[in-house]
Amino acid sequence: MRKYVIMGVQGSGKGTQAAMLAEDLELVHISVGEIFRLNVQQHTKLGAQVRRTMAAGELVGDDLVEGIVKARLAEHDWNFGFIIDGFPRNERQAEFFLESYDIDGVIHLDMPDSEVRRRVLARRLCSGCGMDYNLLASSPQVAGKCDVCGGELIPREDDTEEALAVRLRDYHQKTNPVLDIFRRKEYVVTVDARPDREIVQQAIRGKLGLPPRAMPVPAQAGLPDGPAGTLPSRPGG
Ligand code: AMP
Repeated sequence: MRKYVIMGVQGSGKGTQAAMLAEDLELVHISVGEIFRLNVQQHTKLGAQVRRTMAAGELVGDDLVEGIVKARLAEHDWNFGFIIDGFPRNERQAEFFLESYDIDGVIHLDMPDSEVRRRVLARRLCSGCGMDYNLLASSPQVAGKCDVCGGELIPREDDTEEALAVRLRDYHQKTNPVLDIFRRKEYVVTVDARPDREIVQQAIRGKLGLPPRAMPVPAQAGLPDGPAGTLPSRPGG
C-alpha cells in the first residue's frame, strides 16, 4: 500500500504526473480540484457552492474541502494506495490530513512562476467532452476544436491573468508552509517540473525509490494519436 501527496503550483503538471504514477502502480488518483470541476459542470449543489471561489482563483473553505477528502477516502477503493493531488493546500488542511492518515511520500513539483504563467495561459478545455489541451504541448488538429468530439475549446474559467495572480500568491503564502511541515517529517522529494513529462516522471520514481516506468511505444504512422500524446493530459495543476 502506497500513499502519496503531490504538490506544486497550478500548471506544474501535478495532475499529469499523478495520473501517470497512479496508472502504473494502480493507485487511486484523487484530485480535489477535479471533484469540484465535475460538480460545477454537473450543476450540483456543491458545484454552485464552489464555482465563484474557483473562478476567482481563491481557495475553497477548509471545512468543505476536508469533508470532500474524508468522504472520498472513506470509499476505501484504494487497495494499492492513493495519490492525492491539490490537497493539502494550507497548514490547517495539512494537520487534518496528518491526524487521519499516514503517508509514504510528498512529491513537490518545482516550477518558477514565469513558466507557470506561460503554461497556464495556454491551457484549454473542451466545452463538449471536458478533454484537456495545452496549446504548447498538445494542440488540437483543427485550431479551437476538440479532436475527440469537435467541441469548442475554451480556457478554464480560472485560467485568467487575474485568477492566476491570486493562485500564485496563495500558493506561496499558504502552501509553502505545508511543505515545511512535511519536510520536518522528511517526507518531501523535490523534482524540477520543467522538463518533458516522461523525464519528470522518471525523476519522481528515482527519488521515491520506485522502479522506472516503461517508456510508451511511439505511435505508428497512420494510427490516430491521442491529442495529448500517450496519456490524456490532465493539467489540473
Ligand atoms: P486545482 O485543480 O488543484 O488547481 O484546483 C482548482 C481549484 O479548486 C482551486 O483554485 C481552488 O479554488 C479549489 N481547490 C482545490 N483543492 C483545494 C484545496 N485543497 N483547498 C481549497 N481549495 C481547493
